[in-house]
Amino acid sequence: MGTETANRESVRLPTFLELGFSDLKREVVDKGICSLCGTCVAFCDKIVIEAGESETAELPEFAEGYDTVCGLCYTFCPRTLLPLAELERRVLGKENAGEDVLGVYRSSYALRSKRADISGQDGGAVTSLFAYALEAGIIDGAVITVSDEDWKPKTKVATSYETLKEGAGTKYTLYPSVVGVKDAMENGCNAIGFVGLPCQIQGLRKVQTVEQPYAVGREKIKLLIGLFCMENFKEELLAFVNKKVPLEQMQKVDIKGKELQVYDKDGKVHAIPLDDIKEYIGEGCSVCGDYTAELADISVGSVGSDVGWSTVFVRTEQGEAVVKGAIENGYVEVAEIADKGLGLIRRLGTRKRKNTQTNG
Ligand SMILES: Cc1cc2nc3c(=O)[nH]c(=O)nc-3n(C[C@H](O)[C@H](O)[C@H](O)COP(=O)(O)OP(=O)(O)OC[C@H]3O[C@@H](n4cnc5c(N)ncnc54)[C@H](O)[C@@H]3O)c2cc1C
Ligand code: SF4
Ligand code: SF4
Repeated sequence: MGTETANRESVRLPTFLELGFSDLKREVVDKGICSLCGTCVAFCDKIVIEAGESETAELPEFAEGYDTVCGLCYTFCPRTLLPLAELERRVLGKENAGEDVLGVYRSSYALRSKRADISGQDGGAVTSLFAYALEAGIIDGAVITVSDEDWKPKTKVATSYETLKEGAGTKYTLYPSVVGVKDAMENGCNAIGFVGLPCQIQGLRKVQTVEQPYAVGREKIKLLIGLFCMENFKEELLAFVNKKVPLEQMQKVDIKGKELQVYDKDGKVHAIPLDDIKEYIGEGCSVCGDYTAELADISVGSVGSDVGWSTVFVRTEQGEAVVKGAIENGYVEVAEIADKGLGLIRRLGTRKRKNTQTNG
C-alpha cells in the first residue's frame, strides 16, 4: 500500500542514547511492570534471564559489571515508551490509538486447519499459516514456543513442517519467547516469522521501527503473528496445577469463561476457577491494555469463533498475503465471524483496558 510505505519512511521513533540497563531496571524491572517479553535479552548479550533455584524464570539482569549506556535495551523495551499511534501509522498505515480495542484491521475471519495432522489449540490457524509461509518461501524459519515434558515453555526455530507442528497448543506460563528471534538469526534464517503475545509483538515492532544506529538484523523479521491475551501466569502455576492433575497426565490447557480447564490424557476435563490462580498472574500483565495484539501482521485467538476454529484479524499487507495464500492453497478453511463474536472480543478487550487503567 502506498500510504503504508510512505509512512514507514517518514516517521521516526526516538532512540535513547546514553540510557542503559540501570535505567531499564529502575523504571521497568524494579517497578514490577516487566512482562518478561525477552526483547532486551534477545538483542543484547550483556542481559540475561536465568532460571532461578526453583527453576522459575527470573527477571532480566545484567550479566556484566558495567553498563555501556548505549540505549538499546531501553529503546526496544515495550514498557519504557510505546507511542501506539505512531507505531500504527508506520506499521499498519492507519491510526487507531486506542479508539477500538480490536485495533486497526483489514479483514477478520474464522479459520480452521485443513491438515489432518495439525491439532492446534483452537483451529490450528497459527501452525497452518506458518506452514504456508514456510512452503511459499515468505519465511525461512518460524520462532515457536514449545513445552518440555514438565510443561515449561521454551522456544524453537522451526524450519520444517514437522518441527512447526511441535509448537501447536497454548502454554500458559511466562517465557521470554523473543529470545528465539536471536536463535533464528544465529541459525542463519534471513526471513523470520515469530508468534507471541501482544507485549512481545510490541517489543519486536519497536525493534523494527526505531531509528538506527542499532544494527541487530531487524530486516530479517518478516512476519509477526500475535495471540490474543487477557493475562499470563508465573511458572509457579504449574506446581499448583500438578497438585490437581499430575503434569505428565496433562494433554491440553485452556481458559474458558472463568475457568482454567486442564484436559488429561483420558480426555477428562479438570476445571480450576480463575479466582484460585489469581496470585500467579504475571506482575507485568497488570499494566497491559492490548488484548488482540494490535501491532501484529496477523492476530489469532479463540474468542469470537465456534469451538475448533481460530479467530483471525489481518492487519497488514504481509498478513493479508499469508492468509489469502493459505486459503487459496488449501492450508485452512474459512468462515465468517458473526457480529456477536466481534462484540464478545470487544467486551473482553474493553474489560482488559479498564483493569489496566485501574491498576495504572
Ligand atoms: C498466555 C496466553 C493467553 C491467551 N489468552 C487468550 C485469551 O484471553 N483469549 C483468546 O481468545 N485467546 C487467547 N490466547 C490464544 C489462544 O490460546 C490460541 O493460542 C490461539 O487461538 C491460536 O490457536 P491456534 O489453534 O490457531 O494455534 P496453534 O496452531 O495451536 O499454534 C499456537 C502457537 O502459539 C504459540 N504459543 C503457545 N504458547 C505460547 C506462549 N506462552 N508464548 C508465545 N507463543 C506461544 C506456539 O508456538 C504455537 O505456534 C492466549 C494464548 C496464550 C499463549
Ligand atoms: S518488558 Fe521485555 S524488554 Fe522490557 S525489561 Fe522486561 S523483558 Fe526486557
Ligand atoms: S497480559 Fe500483556 S503483558 Fe501479560 S503476557 Fe499478555 S500481552 Fe504480555
